[in-house]
Amino acid sequence: MADRLDARLYVRDLLAAGTEVALARSQAHYLAHVLRLASGAAIALFNGRDGEWLARIGSVAKNGATLTVETRLRDQRPEPDLWLVFAPVKRAPLDFLVQKATELGVSALVPAITRRTVVERVRRERMEANAIEAAEQCERLTVPQIRDAAPLSRIFDDWPDGRQILLCAETGAAEPIHDVLGRMGRAGPSAILTGPEGGFEQTELDALQKLPFVTSVGLGPRILRADTAALAALSCWQSALGDWQLRPPRRN
Ligand code: SAM
Repeated sequence: MADRLDARLYVRDLLAAGTEVALARSQAHYLAHVLRLASGAAIALFNGRDGEWLARIGSVAKNGATLTVETRLRDQRPEPDLWLVFAPVKRAPLDFLVQKATELGVSALVPAITRRTVVERVRRERMEANAIEAAEQCERLTVPQIRDAAPLSRIFDDWPDGRQILLCAETGAAEPIHDVLGRMGRAGPSAILTGPEGGFEQTELDALQKLPFVTSVGLGPRILRADTAALAALSCWQSALGDWQLRPPRRN
């Protein structure tokens, strides 16, 4: 059992026994001045490829810190391949949506501009910062990919073969998500698609429902806010087809 861990950080460096990791200024500031950690403190590091490793602070100062990687705490393991394609909503819910979708295990976040999307600009670097922070906190071993916002039609122009989409449609004859998931059997590459505050236009829904890899799903009798709908659908998918039969890592 590892020592008590004082912090957990995402880094882009290779992680192996004996390697040295030089932290970014912001991360060094967080360890030294927010957590007030000193040399010898135990930090869990992950990079999305090599599992999770125990590292110790060597030196820490205002503008930098170095860590020495010691032992592997957890092996990297396959994770569900679940994208969230969503019409972005105004700033605060977007921060919230990125954090919660990361906790719910999405492998990619794909902002889609639909006809009724009211958000002009989607700040990818802000989304990435929120995703990293949430990944560190929820102890996942990867950080979701963040894609640039693109028109819905362009996203489907080069859609990857074999990736099924569950289109959350509050109008029309969408089957309950529970029934659709029950029929899917196993979790291949998948995506959840939700609309903006104003919903999809009928022409958008008609075009989407013609695509062979799209299945409309209902999320019950109430009209959910866009971020609520996304998180509800992600939870249903993880529970039925994802990795919710696993447990969080044992810590001290
Ligand atoms: N048409 C809605 C209305 O009348 O207020 C506006 C759209 S709703 C706020 C935002 C998105 O959440 C929808 O485009 C849909 O993707 C999803 N959604 C909300 N409630 C849903 C439900 N009961 N079933 C399926 N999807 C739902």
